Amino acid sequence: MAVSSTATGLDTNPLMAAYKRRRDTSRLGVASKYESQGFISSGTYGKVYKVLLLPQAVAAPRPGDLKGEAGAFYAVKKFKPEKEGGEGYTGLSQSACREIALNREIGHENVIALREVILEMKAVFMVFEYAEHDFLQVIHFHSTSHPRSVLPLGVLKSLLYQLLNGVAYLHSNFIMHRDLKPANILITDDGIVKIGDLGLARVFHRPLVPLLNGDKVVVTIWYRAPELLLGAKHYTTAIDMWAVGCIFAELLSLRPIFKGDEAKMDASKKLPFQKDQMMKIMDVLGAPTVDEWPLLSWMPDYPQLQAMERERARQDPSKPRFENNMGIFLNRYMRSMDTGRAALQELFTWDPDKRLTAADALNHPFFTTDAPAPTKNAFAYATKPYPTRRITADEGGLFAEPAAHAPPAQTANTSATSQRPAAPPAPLAGQPQASTTLVGTSAVGLPGARMWTTQQQAQQQQQQQQQQQQQRGMARKRPRIA
Ligand code: AMP
Repeated sequence: MAVSSTATGLDTNPLMAAYKRRRDTSRLGVASKYESQGFISSGTYGKVYKVLLLPQAVAAPRPGDLKGEAGAFYAVKKFKPEKEGGEGYTGLSQSACREIALNREIGHENVIALREVILEMKAVFMVFEYAEHDFLQVIHFHSTSHPRSVLPLGVLKSLLYQLLNGVAYLHSNFIMHRDLKPANILITDDGIVKIGDLGLARVFHRPLVPLLNGDKVVVTIWYRAPELLLGAKHYTTAIDMWAVGCIFAELLSLRPIFKGDEAKMDASKKLPFQKDQMMKIMDVLGAPTVDEWPLLSWMPDYPQLQAMERERARQDPSKPRFENNMGIFLNRYMRSMDTGRAALQELFTWDPDKRLTAADALNHPFFTTDAPAPTKNAFAYATKPYPTRRITADEGGLFAEPAAHAPPAQTANTSATSQRPAAPPAPLAGQPQASTTLVGTSAVGLPGARMWTTQQQAQQQQQQQQQQQQQRGMARKRPRIA
């Protein structure tokens, strides 16, 4: 039960009042610690901005905060307050609570670090280390390049290895991420992978609330494991490993491997069976059998799966079964990589209990035996520099008093004229540096800020932005927490 400070007499205690006054005046606000560099992305929870740490903030870290370096960039996630008065109103969304609680406890090179949390102006500001790239950007860069180019194997292996390393760390600390997908896997400009967005993550070791009673929908549909699609109430870290398999396949083919349409919840609020997503998986992997997945027939939506198989047999008697076509995918994208083929198939194991774990994946011959070995700088084998994150005009949003239900932010799809200046692309180790052209100065007048980009980069970024919006947007359909 909450105890008010009045009830304890703390408000009337002059010593306490003096302490609070001193504490409040010495506390720096977000605007005096950081200078906004522009807007990155927005979602239902709020917005993400790129900021520069100012010198005065470096000297005074609070206990528990990470040390900062003046002139270093950070990403600030500004959560808007929840709608007041609703049932269970706490002022702070559950996704913000989770992200803060988990991020403050953990620390690993391959998980994005939280520098500090600031509560101010009825908003919560989470300040993260800044990551210049993410998997989705890298995938789009290759898929839209002319001619279309695949990821160099060394880059692909390094990205995947570091992702697995971060996932293994989370799992060994009893944390399931539950929303792994390319847009949430960040990469710093020195090629270090950082798992981001722990807004859906859960501790699964002796949880206060059973997973069963928690979120009704987890994982973005294209990356959702079959046990979730079949209505499993109990699930394990294997759901993250399925998502890793989907990401691995996407890094190879440069498109989502199981790109199903999500069935929407109807008025009855009953979770619909995700038939199209299940179909997309079975078109590639064939139908699961009870032999390979003994608990399959216990899945709540097993009857729906059987109905799909009957429907298939009826529709095309010449091909009455869903067939395994994974060999076609593997021959196309991993012809001579036996260990890589095996690793991907082990990630796509139907039975979650037999699916490859993150710890075992790190020791898979794909990484330990076959060349090239993964590198600490995932870009070490890159043949071209990857485009930097697109930043658009902030228009005062970061430091503005938040309105709980403000109109949606200007999206990153804005025209080039309103683009926020980005820093010159950081040179990648061992790579030719892109020639940069000064094409304009800051539209919003940050001192000394300029917009550096190549024409080609700007065009690519615009195309990428449109495609990425669609995929990133899926993340924002955050389930309301039960
Ligand atoms: P999130 O809500 O964490 O998924 O963040 C939304 C988007 O903001 C991500 O897809 C990234 O494009 C961007 N973003 C999030 N965190 C960072 C970060 N630490 N550095 C740079 N960009 C970020």
